[in-house]
Parts: sequence; C-alpha cells; structure tokens
Amino acid sequence: MSPTSRYPVPPGGIIGILGGGQLGRMLALAGANVGLKCHIYSDAADAPAFDVAAECTFGRYDDQRLLAAFARNVDAITFEFENVPSGTIEMLARERPTHPSALALAITQDRLVEKNFLSRIGVATTAYAALDASKSGHPEVNRNLLPAVLKTRRFGYDGKGQWTIRTIADLELVLPRLKNVPAILERWVDFAFECSVIAARGGDGIFAAYDPPENIHGEHILRSSRVPAPLTSAQSQEAKAIAARIAEGLDYVGVLAVEFFVTREGGLLVNEIAPRVHNSGHWTLEACLVSQFEQHLRAIAGWPLGYPARHSNAVMENLIGVEAEDWQTLARQTGALHLYGKREIRPGRKMGHVTRISPLSAPNE
Ligand code: AMP
Repeated sequence: MSPTSRYPVPPGGIIGILGGGQLGRMLALAGANVGLKCHIYSDAADAPAFDVAAECTFGRYDDQRLLAAFARNVDAITFEFENVPSGTIEMLARERPTHPSALALAITQDRLVEKNFLSRIGVATTAYAALDASKSGHPEVNRNLLPAVLKTRRFGYDGKGQWTIRTIADLELVLPRLKNVPAILERWVDFAFECSVIAARGGDGIFAAYDPPENIHGEHILRSSRVPAPLTSAQSQEAKAIAARIAEGLDYVGVLAVEFFVTREGGLLVNEIAPRVHNSGHWTLEACLVSQFEQHLRAIAGWPLGYPARHSNAVMENLIGVEAEDWQTLARQTGALHLYGKREIRPGRKMGHVTRISPLSAPNE
C-alpha cells in the first residue's frame, strides 16, 4: 500500500482499474509481466479480473467512501469500460493521476457529443441528427437520413440500444420504445468493410498506433479481427493520422480505439471511439512485442510507450456464448487460446478468444 502516489509509477507500484471484465483481466496479467500490480474495483462479485489481480475491491461505482479508500491504496488509476460515471473519474483524479480524463470519457460516452467533437476537429463521420423522442424529432431531417440506424446516445454496446430504420413508419414504431431516452439517428453506411486503429498517447504527447485490423461483426458483436486489413498503405496511414488527431483533440493519455467504416469509394468514416483497450486489439498479445494492454499500463504509469510494430500477421476470433464449450478442440489446435474464466455461459457473452498468427505479408499498395 502506498500512502502517497508515486509517479511515474515504479515497478512494484499499483495501478487501480475500474471494471473487472476480460479487459481488466488482461490488463492485470500484462501488468504482472512488467512488475506492476493491479487493483481491480468492480461492482460484480464474480468479476473475471478478480481471479488474477493483486488486489480487489467489490463495490459500486458511486460509493464515494469506498472509491476514496481505493484511490489511497493505488499510485495511478484507469478504467476498462466506458460506462463508469465521469463524475467518479473527476473525483478520483483529485486523489491520484487518473487517465483517460473525465472530459475524454464524457465526450466518448455520448454518441452525439462524440460526433459533434469529431465534426469540430474535422474528422468525417456518417450524417447524423439528434433525436429527441419527446419532440418526435424533425421529420424532414429524419427522412434525409434514411435508411438509418437509431442508437441510444449513452450506454449502448455490442449493438444494444440500436434499431435499423428504413422508413419513417419504422421510426414511429421505435420511438415509443425509447421512452424518452436521448438518441441519435445515423445514416446507414453501405461500407466495404470495417477497421479500427488501436493507438496510445503518452503523458508526454508521444503517439503510437498499431496497424489497423479489419473487423467482422455479426449481430453487432465483433466476431473476428484480421491484420493486415485490406487497406492501401495510404489508407492505413490516414486511419492512424485520424486516430492521432482524435487523441490530440481529447488530450488523451492511454490506449484508445477508433472504429472506422471503409466506404466502397475508399473513404474513412469514424463510427465511434472507445476510450480504453479494445476487443479488436487482442491480437497484439501474440503479434506485437508490446500488447495493447501493456501499452495502456505504460501510458497510465507514465512510462515510455512500447514499440507497436507487428512481427506477424494475425487473425483473432471471439468465442461467444456456447462456442467456448469447444475448448478441448480449440486447445488441440495451433492458435493461442484465451478463456476469461466467466462462470456462466450466456448467448452473446464474450467467453474467450483465439488468435492465430502467420508470417508477415508484404504491405498493400
Ligand atoms: P456501434 O455500436 O456503433 O459500434 O455499432 C455496432 C456495429 O453495427 C458496427 O460495427 C456496424 O457493423 C453496425 N453499424 C453501426 N452503425 C452503422 C451505420 N451507421 N451504418 C452501417 N452499419 C452500422
């Protein structure tokens, strides 16, 4: 236990992490590799990260007393999911170096605020409009956006809180189900494929991006990520440059993920920003010298960032729901098998993943 914060956090120091899912678990494992201890704070008694963390606190994310005690026991603080109240991050930041900032979290927690931020810094997104269910929106604005996806502004993940809207009649059907929850209408993008950039920005402003993977979703849940993505090297550079502009604009410290639609004309539209390590970056564990998890901890701890280049191509496949029951077959194969230790299998629940690597291929031109 450290009575005052040590920064940069030295080996043996403690990183506090809010959230105890598989991302927290892989952060704690990566921390152990470089001599950093992780203290997981989660509101789930059976959080997967509790199994591997040096210290654990089970509590609510708005329990001020418990959060203050947690902060006193760590050297620096971060989070592994974006639904932490930004007020909690603000409060913790008064006690210990806490990254990403409450402001970066607040911007990325709300799809409308996030898209307005992107427009302000000159980053392209699909066309969108705020939808206020109580005022039933503006029919003309809505019609111009069709076909569209209706999304709740906050607390959506893995396709939860999303509806496909083809006609104004579809919209009228869905609006009452929103029950006045603020939402956004986004024009449907007929994309060629999706990709993401996982990147880190250090406290010194240094930026390091991994190569973008192509991401394949099924029912709005990530199924697999493959590097390299079928991007030209100019597109890949552009995607990294956009991620750098976003990180700069948010004065960001830590790892972030920027998800893109690649249009049929070859353009890049940002879909969303995740202020944390990301499922589409799991392949960095096997295909890079420094994984996204270690990279994030380095940034949070005030260490120099690691080298993000790939030494291999990689394909990561998620094990969703009952797919994880096949672990014996998967364990016989050549891929790296990761199981998150979740006690209960549920449909749509991410239970683990497998990464297969192969020798580097020549870059696309
Ligand atoms: P999101 O929760 O915004 O990341 O959306 C999850 C997935 O739904 C995306 O990765 C896309 O596959 C699909 N999706 C979301 N928004 C759109 C859109 N405007 N146009 C087409 N597909 C979308």
